[in-house]
Amino acid sequence: MDDKLATELQGQIRGEVIVGSDARYDEARKVYNAMIDRKPAVIVRPTGVADVIAAVKAAHAAHLNIAVRGGGHSVPGFGTADGAMVLDLSRMKGIRVDAKAKTVWAEGGCTWGDFNHATHAFGLATTGGIISTTGIAGLTLGGGIGYLTRGFGLSLDNLLAADVVLADGSFVTASPRSHPDLFWALRGGGGNFGVVTNFQFKLHPVDTIVGGVTFFEKEDAPDVIRAYDAYIGKAPRQLGAFFAWQIAPPLPFIPADRHGDPLCAIVACWAGPKDRAKKALAPLLDSAKIVAQMLGPMPYPALNGAFDGLVPPGLQHYWKTAFVKELPDGAIAAHMAHGPKLPAVNSTVHIYPINGAVHDVKPDATAFGHRDAKYATVIAGMWPDPSQNDASIRWVRDYYKAIEPYSEKGGYINFASEDDKDKSAANFGRSYPRLRKIKAKYDKGNVFRFNQNVTPG
Ligand SMILES: Cc1cc2nc3c(=O)[nH]c(=O)nc-3n(C[C@H](O)[C@H](O)[C@H](O)COP(=O)(O)OP(=O)(O)OC[C@H]3O[C@@H](n4cnc5c(N)ncnc54)[C@H](O)[C@@H]3O)c2cc1C
Repeated sequence: MDDKLATELQGQIRGEVIVGSDARYDEARKVYNAMIDRKPAVIVRPTGVADVIAAVKAAHAAHLNIAVRGGGHSVPGFGTADGAMVLDLSRMKGIRVDAKAKTVWAEGGCTWGDFNHATHAFGLATTGGIISTTGIAGLTLGGGIGYLTRGFGLSLDNLLAADVVLADGSFVTASPRSHPDLFWALRGGGGNFGVVTNFQFKLHPVDTIVGGVTFFEKEDAPDVIRAYDAYIGKAPRQLGAFFAWQIAPPLPFIPADRHGDPLCAIVACWAGPKDRAKKALAPLLDSAKIVAQMLGPMPYPALNGAFDGLVPPGLQHYWKTAFVKELPDGAIAAHMAHGPKLPAVNSTVHIYPINGAVHDVKPDATAFGHRDAKYATVIAGMWPDPSQNDASIRWVRDYYKAIEPYSEKGGYINFASEDDKDKSAANFGRSYPRLRKIKAKYDKGNVFRFNQNVTPG
């Protein structure tokens, strides 16, 4: 964007307009994944809907595509793009809880940390991500898998309405009664349809939970995975839990001589009565001899922030993902071959359950295309040192290749990498044809293309 247009835009908005000559530019173009190095034409930090409308209209007039940034966690770095307008919503963090109705409106720049802080004051929560620094926007629009999924469904299953600025700068509220086609598409179609300035969610009573991590020897992973697979589909819905590979971090609850060892783990959140936690967790925690454990009652937001330290901003990221319908011996052998080779303490592999309340929702009720899956696997390669990029990326790819024969063709769009773009149709699954039609109606010019893209059809 030339300086004259940027100055004009600055005159129309309350937020910031940052171009290449600005001292803030290099900091402002960074996203969470340090591998991403892109040079947008302009970065706009709106303070509210009026700013977003002005910015989208300015982009339209200047023929710029728009990269929307919520929490900035997208591994392919979709919150920034060469030559585009970046709309960085990080100044839009307003939240209003209606405790009586058990609903909340939260602006598009909120993280789950912001959100949980606000709702916890009322003893309420909804399904969000497991790390507090992830944005509510990208996570919800693509799905939303977290500790509370089994009880309350995906984050997008809790969405009641969304305020959206469309590609031409017009404003709509999408809900079951208003623009229902757009509302359907927003719930699973990612950031393809416009800038969501405000999200309305359903809330649930969740206050103190019993949560944390239990580590086991890597050799015991087959027993742990089999116990998890046998139990997690029928466990009480107040239990959220997933299997993980994790290098033991240097934390006091882990014996010092085990720091740095690759281990497997069960990460859990019991959101039911405290005195029933032990019984609910037993089938998972009794599956093998425990090496170390940090598990106990804590406020839900504390668990949401418990692992933030392992994934600070500025790491290198390369991830792969697969939906899975079963975990046969061959799949477990593939996990055994690659899981213990995690390249850094920041890297992890999670096998999340897709069951409980997620399966209560009809497969075509939202655009989330893989409700029939039983698990969502993520191979999350994260490491600090760029000189390790080739070796770490190879680990992710080799691991994925080994589990591919036991996986669905599509993976979860929120965990996919840049080079998974050619798998868009499989990733969106059964929803893809309908999403293409709705994309053509709301964003024919594909202005919002920096995402797991739905091409207008
Ligand atoms: C450390 C880490 C932990 C994670 N944990 C989980 C987890 O527990 N569960 C889970 O389901 N996923 C998880 N994810 C994946 C996460 O869901 C995706 O990375 C998601 O895209 C992040 O959303 P964001 O707003 O932070 O990202 P951004 O990079 O800001 O945006 C991601 C995508 O959403 C679009 N977008 C963002 N904001 C808006 C908006 N307001 N309106 C329209 N489009 C928008 C962007 O254009 C982009 O295409 C995790 C990712 C990381 C890096």
